[in-house]
Amino acid sequence: MQRFEDNDIKYLKGIGESRARLLAEQLEIKKFRDLLDYYPFRYVDRSRFYKIEEFRGEMPLLQVKGEFISFRKEGEGRRRRLVGVFHDGHRMMECVWFSKVDTLADVWQTRKPYVIFGKPTLFNSVWSMSHPEIEAYDATRPPVGLQGIYSMTEVMRKRGITQKMVQNAVKNMLAMPAFNSISETLPVNIIELFRFPDIRSTYRSLHFPADADSLRRARERMKFEELFYLELQILRYSRDRGRKIAGHILPVIGEKFNGFYANCIPFELTGAQKRVLREIRADMRTGRQMNRLIQGDVGSGKTMVAFMTMLMGIDNGFQCALMAPTEILASQHYETMRGWCEQIGLNIRLLTGSTKAKPRREIHAGLSDGTIDILVGTHALIEDNVEFANLGIAVIDEQHRFGVAQRAKLWHKNTIPPHVLVMTATPIPRTLAMTVYGDLDVSVIDELPPGRKPVDTWLRSYDHRGEVNRHIQRQLDEGRQIYIVYPLVRENEKLDLRSLETGYDITVRTFPQVQVAMVHGQMSAADKDAQMQRFVSGEARILVATTVIEVGVNVPNATVMVIENAERFGLSQLHQLRGRVGRGADRSWCILMAKRELSADSRKRLGIMTETSDGFLISEADMKMRGPGDMEGTQQSGIAFSLKMANLATDGQIVQRAREAAIAILDANPELGPVAEGIAADMRWRLDNTGLQIIASELHRRFAKETDWSVIS
Ligand code: ADP
Ligand code: MG
Repeated sequence: MQRFEDNDIKYLKGIGESRARLLAEQLEIKKFRDLLDYYPFRYVDRSRFYKIEEFRGEMPLLQVKGEFISFRKEGEGRRRRLVGVFHDGHRMMECVWFSKVDTLADVWQTRKPYVIFGKPTLFNSVWSMSHPEIEAYDATRPPVGLQGIYSMTEVMRKRGITQKMVQNAVKNMLAMPAFNSISETLPVNIIELFRFPDIRSTYRSLHFPADADSLRRARERMKFEELFYLELQILRYSRDRGRKIAGHILPVIGEKFNGFYANCIPFELTGAQKRVLREIRADMRTGRQMNRLIQGDVGSGKTMVAFMTMLMGIDNGFQCALMAPTEILASQHYETMRGWCEQIGLNIRLLTGSTKAKPRREIHAGLSDGTIDILVGTHALIEDNVEFANLGIAVIDEQHRFGVAQRAKLWHKNTIPPHVLVMTATPIPRTLAMTVYGDLDVSVIDELPPGRKPVDTWLRSYDHRGEVNRHIQRQLDEGRQIYIVYPLVRENEKLDLRSLETGYDITVRTFPQVQVAMVHGQMSAADKDAQMQRFVSGEARILVATTVIEVGVNVPNATVMVIENAERFGLSQLHQLRGRVGRGADRSWCILMAKRELSADSRKRLGIMTETSDGFLISEADMKMRGPGDMEGTQQSGIAFSLKMANLATDGQIVQRAREAAIAILDANPELGPVAEGIAADMRWRLDNTGLQIIASELHRRFAKETDWSVIS
């Protein structure tokens, strides 16, 4: 028998064939369940009418009752608009429309009671609403409480689909007697344990909330449900993989590791570095493939951990690879590690897109006959013609720059896939990391090497250019080096390049006694390297650059980072850039240059930068301000986008609970099938057949056509 939720929406009263086609085409709403899951994306309080005199600061969506006094058409071409002056009996405000100017001018009438509905903003000291929703005021209608607003596409709107129509269709569905037979989507154990509303009242409250509290409870259940199934899916794969994918066993800590540790490291490892190395060491003895993410703030010493991890591989007779996202970064790692390799007699080579044919052939030969121990490179090293004799460990630096597919390619460089260590300087909260990075195990280097002085961070407007230049001059006089970074917005590369080149000219003229290097994304790799090399060697004392230097570059003698148009950078980027200085023993500065008039958002971002240097705090703030979908790293995973209701940034506690519940359910119901004898399962989490069926069918419904999460690493 057809289940209620599987019915085609064309059979729903108020929809019909052609609207059903439109909904399917625009929003993939095909069945009853799809429409139920098309929750309002926001709710507005329609229980009261606001007075214009109450407006101040940031206002929510709200409604005002009153009349239009007059309409006028203004502007030309794209700026043409209709302005209606609206009076609430006491004060005036304006309503503005930028499209359908002529039609709407005929629709709305003056001196007739309307309820207008939208978000008021203050513009040139006049409150206005653009494109408000408007309906005739009807004194006989009972007041609505919270009203859901559904998102609409432009096409839907043009074809006459209205909020009212969607509301009515949903209302009709909820009123059908068969609605009461709709299938539950969570096992009853879980519903009882968390005291969630059942699925029927959840849908009722989501679409037509009786009050704020029932809406909150319904939303909480749906968020939990989404996250619970997501976690279940991720965990199921990682447990599977744990069983299935064999990894090399690396039993010994040998001569290279011990020799390097005893004689070559010029400092004591931090406690956090040692702990992470122990975690990695433990992974290498399990017989399963390691997939570990190291989160560590800029400057926390991830490179050393990576190198020592590779030594574990080499001591057991394996080759190792390190992949970096840019040529600059790959060369820099190569230079650092070459010094170390010389001391302990290892063969290390660099392979990038610009490696010439002859050395490239040598490298290919050395890799396949096993004489190369370590290969450092860009994505050039995962090309198909690069073959290793026995790749044992692959390290990926700054992982958010690589796509999932590229990472997966590394796995196939050996019959038994190499152990994979991923390093990122974009710290995110642990539970979130476990969710976003799928089945990676997470290690955190939460300690900076001793003696680091925090970077002094200044926010300066362009009126202070003189002061900033004098500061730069003083640092140059002391022999230090300076970065000056310009933003790069892809939509307009030409303009960006021009501002960079102008910046370069000005810098050369302002500091004529030193050499200035310049790096940007449109240079050839060879030119970039050459310029970078001038700066690394100290020949050039100032580097003018775009954000190509953002990740990883290490020049300890650089003490000043000037960021031009700082308001155009995201928080994580600013933090990364600031991490380029303060790497030596000297005091250092990060100077954020911005215009005097800043938007509230920019002011807040730049304020956070001047207040803290804690990468975790900064990334949390960044996430809250931008939403996790925007975060680098979460983007490729697609997970943040697959969530309709839960927000990984702000629903951390629900993520935690959902993950714990998923773990408990899997422990008590391995394979999500009958419990094997001898396993002591927690009865609260033991599911009956109905519960197991619900889980199976939800997992199928939610993930059947999705990505294979198991390859995310
Ligand atoms: P990141 O984690 O940002 O990649 P790096 O690995 O580049 O940081 O390390 C930053 C600097 O700190 C390097 O110059 C490195 O040699 C140094 N360093 C790493 N570990 C320690 C330590 N335990 N004590 C002192 N300096 C260290
Ligand atoms: Mg690094």
